[in-house]
Order: sequence, then C-alpha cells, then structure tokens
Amino acid sequence: MPPTINMGIPGATSSVRSGGGSQASGKRVLLAEPRGYCAGVDRAVETVERALEKHGAPVYVRHEIVHNVHVVETLAKAGAVFVDETDEVPEGAIVVFSAHGVAPTVHVEAAARNLRTIDATCPLVTKVHNEAKRFARDDYDILLVGHTGHEEVVGTAGEAPDHVQVVDNPDAVDQVTVRDPNKVIWLSQTTLSVDETMETVRRLREKFPTLQDPPSDDICYATQNRQVAVKAMAPECELVIVVGSRNSSNSVRLVEVALGAGSDAAHLVDYAEDIDPTWLEGVTTVGVTSGASVPEVLVRGVLERLAEYGYGTVQPVTTANETLVFALPREIRPPRG
Ligand code: SF4
Repeated sequence: MPPTINMGIPGATSSVRSGGGSQASGKRVLLAEPRGYCAGVDRAVETVERALEKHGAPVYVRHEIVHNVHVVETLAKAGAVFVDETDEVPEGAIVVFSAHGVAPTVHVEAAARNLRTIDATCPLVTKVHNEAKRFARDDYDILLVGHTGHEEVVGTAGEAPDHVQVVDNPDAVDQVTVRDPNKVIWLSQTTLSVDETMETVRRLREKFPTLQDPPSDDICYATQNRQVAVKAMAPECELVIVVGSRNSSNSVRLVEVALGAGSDAAHLVDYAEDIDPTWLEGVTTVGVTSGASVPEVLVRGVLERLAEYGYGTVQPVTTANETLVFALPREIRPPRG
C-alpha cells in the first residue's frame, strides 16, 4: 500500500472507517489534513453569528463573509443580509466587513452613513494591508501579486492606490513598469498558489534584480498547509475532490495543485450531490480535501456519498497540525471574566 504521511498525530495513518466491500476492491479515500476552516474564516463566521445573537436580525454583511455558498445561505437564513456596497445598508445599521478586508474608502463611506461597523477582516489580510501602507509611506513601487478584481486584492490595493500595481500571473510581468527599479517590493494575496506565485516573483526578479521580498510570507499558513497536504496525497490519487465554492480562491488553487502534483483528475464540488458518478469510473483512490472556507459537515457528506460507491476506507494524510485561533473583533468580543 502506498505510504501515507504520519506527523506523529495519533491515528493519523490508520483507516478510520471501513465498509461496503472496499477492502476487497482496494477502493479507498485519502483525506487531506489540514483541510477546511482556517482561523480567519472561523473568526469571521462566528463574528456574524454573535452579531446576530447580540443585536438581532438583520445584520448587514458587506460581500460574502467568506466565499462559501453553504455558509452564506446558512447565515442568510439566520438573518444576515448580504450587500455589495455600504450604500445598500440603512443609515445607522450594523454592517460586518468580510474576512477579505476592505479599502479605507469603505470605512469612510460607512462612517458617512453612521453605520456601526464590525470588521471581520482576517488579521493575516490586515498584515498585508499594513505592509502596503508602510512601503507606500517609504515611496516604494508595490507589486501586488494577486487576482485582479478579487475582493482582497481590491482592499489591499486601496490602501495605497498610487503605489500599488496588481500582477495577475507570471505573463503579466511583461507589462509591469516602475519608477525606480531599485525601490520595488512585491506583496501578495493570501490565498494564491505558492508555486505560481514563486514563478511570478522569479520573473519579476529577472526584470528587477533588486526586488525586495515581503517582510514575512503573505500567502497565509492555511493556504500553504492545505496545498502541502494535497501535494502529499495527489500522486496516489486518480481523482481528487475539493469541497469548496467556485469563487473561493484557495479552493480553486487546490484543484490546480492536485492536478499539478499528479492526480489524473480533480473537481471542485459545493455539495456531495455535485459528485458525478462517471468521475469514479476505474478509480481506486480518491483524494478529498476542502478549502479554508468550508465547514466540515460538507466534507462528511462527501465521504458518506463516496462510501455509498464503495469507497468506505478512509486514510488521513496528515502534513501539519494547526492550532492557530484569532480573537474575535473588539466590537463583538465578550466582556472578560
Ligand atoms: S485563508 Fe488565510 S488569510 Fe484567508 S481568512 Fe483564512 S487564515 Fe485568513
């Protein structure tokens, strides 16, 4: 049997479930660990839940609090109202800013409408905002590697619009021009493919040899850990199923990483019902993982569906153990003691 990875976590390499004759057929699931909720998503979702408990419905949320259909629908049923812009929020109402962060102009607009804001921006996104502000203050040209139009990129670029250029992919490097090639730094969106970003940076550095690196990794721990786990698992798989929504950057990247690491096929699904049985034809090993905005209940649904098709043996592939937890935003934090 191909090896799984054991980082010393009890039970990490044992089969946790079996059934449906899968042992005889050799059919199995490799389950990536870590997967699913990261600390920033956990915090953002809890922020909306607590705001609803504390203030009652409706609580307005600017943009999807996290990029997951199930999470957004569940919160909407509980009384959250998702809006595109703050001018859709009634004067004086409560509005939560999503985990992806907002540009300073959004705070100004909210203040002008007397909105009571709760900022659920992930602290790791705020870190990148602070880097953009700092290097803009020092008059650097900032090359922000990220997807044009993604909410996080819009928010980060908005911190220093006169200094930031977005570099969408390695080929976009050809169009980049700067004022002083000796005063250039790259920063990045938190949820990119590590490998593609490194390729973009390699090309940037060819063009600007004294390009500075960010003070610390901008691609966050959760994005990196989920990609490492998929890379460990994918070479063993004929199919990888990534649970996540189409607008979730880190989930889409996991599909790309699975294909790049050797899986014959990889698909993104929001729900277990999205699995097309034809994907399973001739497949012995299915890898399963989930994006950072995906609750575990959706992964369980996928495992149950796969068990129905004879993939009852589940073997975790563990490459890291995550323990990071972020404090809730100040406005919603319960009083101490
Ligand atoms: S994916 Fe990373 S940056 Fe985004 S919310 Fe999670 S921890 Fe924060």
